[in-house]
Amino acid sequence: MYIYAGVIVNNNFIKLDKIFTYKVPEKLKNRVEIGFRIKVPFGKGNKKLDGFIVRLYDKEQEQIEIKEIIDICDDFSLFTKKDLELIENMREKYLCTYLECIKVFIPPGIFKGIKNKKKTLIFIGRKLEEKFNKEPYKSIYELIKNNNGLYTKNFISKNYNISMSSLNTMIKYGFLLSDEKIINRYNTVQYENYSRKRLNKEQQNAVDKIINSNKKLFLIHGVTGSGKTEIYMHIVEKALKENKESLVLVPEIVLTPQMVERFKGRFGKDISVVHSKLSEGERYDEWVRVKQGKVKVAIGARSAIFLPFKNLGFIIIDEEHEGSYKSDSNPKYNVREIGEMKCSQYDCKMILGSATPSVETYYRCKRGEIELITIENRVNGIKMPEVEIVDMREELLNNNKSMFSRALYEAICDRLIKKEQIILFLNRRGYSTFVSCRKCGYVFKCNNCDISFTYHYDKKKLMCHYCGSVTDIPKMCPKCFSKYVKYFGLGTEKVEQEIKKLFPEANILRMDFDTTRNKNSYENIYNRFKNKQADILIGTQMVAKGLDFKDVTLVGVIAADVSINLPDFRAAERTYELITQVSGRAGRGEKSGKVIVQTYNPENYSIRCAASNDYKSFYQEEISIRQNMEYPPFVDLLLINMSSKNENLLIKNIQNVGIFLKNMWEKNDKITLLGPCPCQISKIKELYRWQIILKGQIRRDDAKNVRKTVYHLLKHVYNDIRVSIDMNPNNML
Ligand code: ADP
Ligand code: ZN
Ligand code: ZN
Repeated sequence: MYIYAGVIVNNNFIKLDKIFTYKVPEKLKNRVEIGFRIKVPFGKGNKKLDGFIVRLYDKEQEQIEIKEIIDICDDFSLFTKKDLELIENMREKYLCTYLECIKVFIPPGIFKGIKNKKKTLIFIGRKLEEKFNKEPYKSIYELIKNNNGLYTKNFISKNYNISMSSLNTMIKYGFLLSDEKIINRYNTVQYENYSRKRLNKEQQNAVDKIINSNKKLFLIHGVTGSGKTEIYMHIVEKALKENKESLVLVPEIVLTPQMVERFKGRFGKDISVVHSKLSEGERYDEWVRVKQGKVKVAIGARSAIFLPFKNLGFIIIDEEHEGSYKSDSNPKYNVREIGEMKCSQYDCKMILGSATPSVETYYRCKRGEIELITIENRVNGIKMPEVEIVDMREELLNNNKSMFSRALYEAICDRLIKKEQIILFLNRRGYSTFVSCRKCGYVFKCNNCDISFTYHYDKKKLMCHYCGSVTDIPKMCPKCFSKYVKYFGLGTEKVEQEIKKLFPEANILRMDFDTTRNKNSYENIYNRFKNKQADILIGTQMVAKGLDFKDVTLVGVIAADVSINLPDFRAAERTYELITQVSGRAGRGEKSGKVIVQTYNPENYSIRCAASNDYKSFYQEEISIRQNMEYPPFVDLLLINMSSKNENLLIKNIQNVGIFLKNMWEKNDKITLLGPCPCQISKIKELYRWQIILKGQIRRDDAKNVRKTVYHLLKHVYNDIRVSIDMNPNNML
């Protein structure tokens, strides 16, 4: 019998990130369990707060004053003991609070009192007795009988004049019966059947290997169009036969209607779809359906990893290299890592899939930690598209100053005449701007960090956002002495304008952050392009991924340089990935595809390897740079970001933090401190932003103290300064 409980209270204040002991009252002794939400009195005023049970004790506990739990909030626990294990791991690994970790496991909106939506159905009970065979009872009885039962809601909406008291009387005598029905708030759209395919040899091989191996982690490295989705579906089917559950994760931006169409079209409506555009109510219902075991397959974005499955067989992570698998708010988890932890908790396998695996994952394959399955060919013998690299420096020499090379311009004309579709791609988020020589392609980089300098409009200076070094913009290129040194500024909108000018007859769609903010806008653009209502689709990385349009025969990459020169150690990896992925959109049908990549750096290895579809050579080159420059997977990067409205206070504080940490590291030479310096985006709204980067073996066991110190720093910084800590962040903006 438990007499005390350890409780995490629902208060975000970081100093309260610890377990408080409460007494379990007599009436709850048989009911309390780990993961229950409860009401507790808290603080001097005994304010009523929600809390979560994370410990149960059957012995006396030491704490000066022990208060009593008031009540339980729900009829079921919100997380299990296994989940609690994960919660504690995550807290330690991602340097965040219990509460932040708990929140990703529990259904959304629960603090706001979101519950199941219920409707009361009234239907006919026993026959009306003589005594009641009169008004108003008689007509109520007839009405309900004729309608085969009615929801109480309909009484009001349809203006039936029925008094609740007569109704209750009739229920009391059993002439009418009532029942509460849970209404599920989820999409009931019917999808066209997506027929099961016979696997080809390579696909079958992959499935067999995964099913028969006693390993738990797999990477399917398959070229675009190699039929990975079909492999996933066969595995899900296998799990269903064994009555096991499967979780299919796709990046938020690829949670296109397409993947849903395919899965729903194959497995019917009993598959749960979870993404950020669902309402809280809809997400709550999906959570409950999974918890009740009504759903055997879920497909969703990152956060779906926390759905309360109990009998997981497979976790499938499609496009595993995608940045959106890492959360950028606390807990700043990486979904691959959570998946791996789940595999060790459950008898479960994790399958990563990608045409362009992340360097980290491939490195682990090489070390034998992940089983590698390679698929070299597209399904049905469809050829990989031909990739042509266009040197934009030569365009300049030939007096072409437009953003389109002659080759791309001509190819667009050709496809428009043939009524084939075109995708134009520009990776541009609008904030990172590098400076380069347009004559020879030289890009200004920081020598210490091998990272492109970022141009700052306001100060007219170049800055390295890893180490903070600042320099003036040279008037002349140090390599070819040309004066054509310029910063790069180009966006999707500009591309759209130009295309409209050059091809006024073409139908154009644009897909980027700005045009897809509304709930269904992504679907609309997707469907219009799919139905051939447009000739040209212009977009950012959103158009690069996953889409399968049969009539696209030309893909143009407007400026590969934008991604090569991102101020990020992953810039080359991102470039390889983007060119491969976007190329994968071309020639998926019977007609062959062509890709034109425009760049000022045609000899760059990430572009060359992507053009020849040679991941292995790219990986070789990249992994040796990572090793030489000391970047992940060889070290960890810990980003400490501080922001405040008060710039002076911020700078003073982050400098103190820097000095404090530096003194500490002297004893531990395995960790280097970079900065403090302003972030790449040095001000957001009113907030000034600065950062410190720690580089080294921060996640290893012997660095536990380092992590603890950093975490405790959080509790000692001024109130008007916000601190965020990110272990191995995706980018350092
Ligand atoms: P990937 O995810 O590897 O890029 P997809 O799963 O989108 O590839 O598959 C590409 C196309 O091939 C899809 O249209 C799919 O329906 C089709 N396909 C996949 N496997 C088979 C198969 N065994 N037989 C016939 N068509 C298949
Ligand atoms: Zn030059
Ligand atoms: Zn630097």
